[in-house]
Amino acid sequence: MRDNREKGTYEKIDETRGKDELHEMTLAYNDMMDQLGRNYEKQERFVSDASHELKTPITVIESYSRLLKRRGFDDRNIANEAVDAILSQAVRMKDLTAQLLDLARSDQSAAYNFRQADIRGISEETVRPMRQAYGQEFAIEGPDKLLAETDPDKLRQLLFILLDNARKYSDGAVRLILEEKEGLIELSVADHGPGIPEADLPHLFDRFYRVDSDRNRKTGGTGLGLALAKEIADGLGAELSVESVVGIGTVFRISFPSNRQS
Ligand code: ADP
Repeated sequence: MRDNREKGTYEKIDETRGKDELHEMTLAYNDMMDQLGRNYEKQERFVSDASHELKTPITVIESYSRLLKRRGFDDRNIANEAVDAILSQAVRMKDLTAQLLDLARSDQSAAYNFRQADIRGISEETVRPMRQAYGQEFAIEGPDKLLAETDPDKLRQLLFILLDNARKYSDGAVRLILEEKEGLIELSVADHGPGIPEADLPHLFDRFYRVDSDRNRKTGGTGLGLALAKEIADGLGAELSVESVVGIGTVFRISFPSNRQS
């Protein structure tokens, strides 16, 4: 540096660099503030969505507990009805809080552990207990071995959400198709269920979004599964997309580079 100063170039280089550095720092600072603002907004929305969703089961539990206290000891039918309602709403709250916690945790990028793993093996491990639990057909198609860099636990969790939805909403055979195309791994979960109307597709990954409230009441959904799936896909550096035709079926596709460096 001194040599440069003696040659009369030091001040000039340093000054330019100083300006560039300041400019870069300002940009980085602005980015950081934007990110903080976005995080804050996200957190605020998260808390208000969560409390809104939790309010319904709490209100039902409260009113049925009052009814139980007032009339349940004299009337067995009322007691039964109240206990059933309280139980089902308590289960709903348990599911909601577990999913909300998962959603909050999936935001933290530090929680991801990437390593070289066999995607076929991960798929088999995810599907095996589902076949046993539901007796439904889950077919895996594609190569016997497919190596890629990922977090196996998170990918398993993501696959589970998509496979479980395909099972819940289609009642038929579900296919998991594994492919590698020019360094990109693609995992498609396909079903021949009712399909999703085009107007709903853009909102599908929003928290608490459900396509058909009646159908969901029947299946007891929370509308959090796909929001969580999207968060996990983001954390894995994967794209999550959906194609669906009403009356034909739905395909959810996860795609990510087999090598994170490339
Ligand atoms: P939920 O807990 O309601 O299943 P999700 O976020 O997992 O919440 O899904 C959001 C909505 O998307 C569901 O309520 C359902 O209407 C629709 N959906 C998701 N997967 C499928 C599928 N494979 N076929 C048809 N509809 C689906």
